[in-house]
Amino acid sequence: QTTMQDPLLAGLNNKQLEAVTLPQQSALILAGAGSGKTRVLTARIAWLIQTEQVSPTGLLAVTFTNKAAKEMLTRITASLPINTRGMWVGTFHGLCNRLLRAHHREAGLPASFQILDIADQLSMIKRLMKLMNVDDEKFPPKQVQNYINGCKDEGLRAHAVDAYDPHSQKLREIFEEYDKQCQRDGVADFAELLLRCYELLERDTNIRQHYQSRFRYILVDEFQDTNRLQYQWLKLLAGKDNCMFAVGDDDQSIYGFRGARVGNMRDFETDFNVQSIVKLEENYRSHSNILDAANAIISHNKNRLGKNLWTSAGAGEPVRVYQAYNDNDEAQFIVDEIKMLHAEGTELGEMAMLYRSNAQSRVLEHALFSANLPYRVYGGLRFFERAEIKHALAYMRLIANANDDTALLRVINFPARGIGARSLEQLQEAARAGNCSLWQAAINKVGNGKVGGKGIDGFVALIRQMVDEAYGISLAELAELATTLSGLKAHYQNEKEGEDRIANLEELVTAAVAFTNQDFGNHSNADGETEQDLLTQFLSHASLEAGEHQADVGREALQLMTVHASKGLEFKVVFISGLEEGLCPHEQSTYEANGLEEERRLMYVAVTRARQRLYLSHAQSRMLHGQVRYGIPSRFLDEIPDKLLKHLNSKPVAKSGYGRDYNELPAVMSKQQSSTQKNAMPWKVGQQVAHNKFGNGVVVSYEGNANDMRVQVNFGREGLKWLALEFAKLTAI
Ligand code: ATP
Ligand code: MG
Repeated sequence: QTTMQDPLLAGLNNKQLEAVTLPQQSALILAGAGSGKTRVLTARIAWLIQTEQVSPTGLLAVTFTNKAAKEMLTRITASLPINTRGMWVGTFHGLCNRLLRAHHREAGLPASFQILDIADQLSMIKRLMKLMNVDDEKFPPKQVQNYINGCKDEGLRAHAVDAYDPHSQKLREIFEEYDKQCQRDGVADFAELLLRCYELLERDTNIRQHYQSRFRYILVDEFQDTNRLQYQWLKLLAGKDNCMFAVGDDDQSIYGFRGARVGNMRDFETDFNVQSIVKLEENYRSHSNILDAANAIISHNKNRLGKNLWTSAGAGEPVRVYQAYNDNDEAQFIVDEIKMLHAEGTELGEMAMLYRSNAQSRVLEHALFSANLPYRVYGGLRFFERAEIKHALAYMRLIANANDDTALLRVINFPARGIGARSLEQLQEAARAGNCSLWQAAINKVGNGKVGGKGIDGFVALIRQMVDEAYGISLAELAELATTLSGLKAHYQNEKEGEDRIANLEELVTAAVAFTNQDFGNHSNADGETEQDLLTQFLSHASLEAGEHQADVGREALQLMTVHASKGLEFKVVFISGLEEGLCPHEQSTYEANGLEEERRLMYVAVTRARQRLYLSHAQSRMLHGQVRYGIPSRFLDEIPDKLLKHLNSKPVAKSGYGRDYNELPAVMSKQQSSTQKNAMPWKVGQQVAHNKFGNGVVVSYEGNANDMRVQVNFGREGLKWLALEFAKLTAI
């Protein structure tokens, strides 16, 4: 619809073009899923640079993930001959980290401050609570962690938190001690990066004015998921005069549990004197059956800014609904469909399995594994979160800053060097008494046989040797040093299944080489930003990557992820499983104000990821957290007009089971049998049987017919077995 030559503008519809070329003032692009918001934001950046002669270093763009930032930069360089090195495009965390590095002194942080990821933060809180003698039953560490992060996300320090009862007073006290400990260690958690940066900009007029006059243009993707602090940070940075370009979809706000405020979109209009609100209503992603299903679901929410979404893509296929007998049956159904689609030519990487909670992935993974289908799970452990990598990184962190207690505790006795729990306790007591880091306490005690003994002396000598040898060597050599001199590699060589771990350690060296050679990202040095040493940059990169919550879209493997992680992505085929009351909507949501509406938005996000084909499935029973749960179909299924749906089956039958609900089960017949009524199964489900090799068991289910009939028996300790009935020689007991 446009004659623009520019590949970034070509093909945009009128509304999109209007948004991209808006005059220089603050604007809100409010648009539904798949309407091209992210594409518009990218084009806007290119437009500003090319047509409005804005310097690439004069704008700042916030993306939802590091990966999205990289994609954006790649797209921009593909069409414009510019160097993206000095550009500030990244996540809130990445951008704040960069700003704090440049002004660490003013922010009260050491030059080489390290970032605590979620796991390290939790272990630090546990340690601290132990030292403070806090009962971890009354104060579960995870809850304490959420409390601390929640406060910081609201922009609150411990002294500013209200606490009227002993319980909240204790929480506040832990919060305070935790912050002290972080300061002493020279580390910052994710929420701290933002808060610290915000406080710096607020306090320091010079720095604030510097950045305000530099970043005339601020662009934010996924604006609906900004929390209060992020919003305040943007407001500070924008000042009175700068232009904010925010794109978002109130219907996709799914991080309310982490403090995201949809209200930010309303406030934005007044706070930033927004002159134009552009609504994009054409969806380019999905066929209309899928889109109409999504629209129908979300229309049940009351709290909406309101917009319509349509597509010219045609109805496409109906939304398929499968009613499973149990979770295994559901997984098996999905795997069969995937095999079929794959055989017909759909790439595995184009198909995604989405679920509400991480725990659901186990059954799905098991089925995929048995079917020999390659898959990748997101939200699981990423490279930088693996134990061996974190060990190696801990040595590297100690080289950068030995006062990092979390890193020190991780490796002081790993590989084992004979430092016992008692010695560690003494060391911790000494650090507490001297109000110093563990490293300081350790070097004060070197040679003093009483505390810590030889092991600690050896560790101190090792770290000192590492620091010596690290002088003047490359980042890759340093990674090598951390994996070898530390004894990590030798340790894993002696371990039975250590090969993978060694391969990962070698991969770390490769990652260091790649990082050194990489020429863009959040760590570049341009416009006179002070060059921080590569080691610290690399370590920040590792921590920020570890905190990434969104998936990578790979080609070769099936994609498994939670709905939260699927935000912003799209797939040709999408399976949403576990659509049962209690799971989706999650039972937790019923206790929270607006909880159900957030669940519905989550469902809306899930449905709108699909381009061509969408499967929705639910199971009558499933094993979750060690319990069998019987679920009724999710209300969200009822909210979709029947004409959009195709029910693949009417009544599910037992095809496989876990032998967990025999009592409920009548002597059901498998699908094939009930239709043919031939070859009746000799055993009832629930029948006790004996097998000469596996001992006693109970019949769980069966499948096939005639000579092919197989029976599944739960043999207790021997496990579940499928046996060919013809050969199985079972006797009733
Ligand atoms: P979400 O809300 O899920 O983040 P979005 O609004 O950011 O979605 P995009 O991811 O930018 O949407 O675009 C969705 C899809 O539509 C992408 O594949 C994009 O390339 C395509 N698309 C966007 N605009 C157009 C257009 N004018 N012509 C053709 N395809 C388009
Ligand atoms: Mg998007």
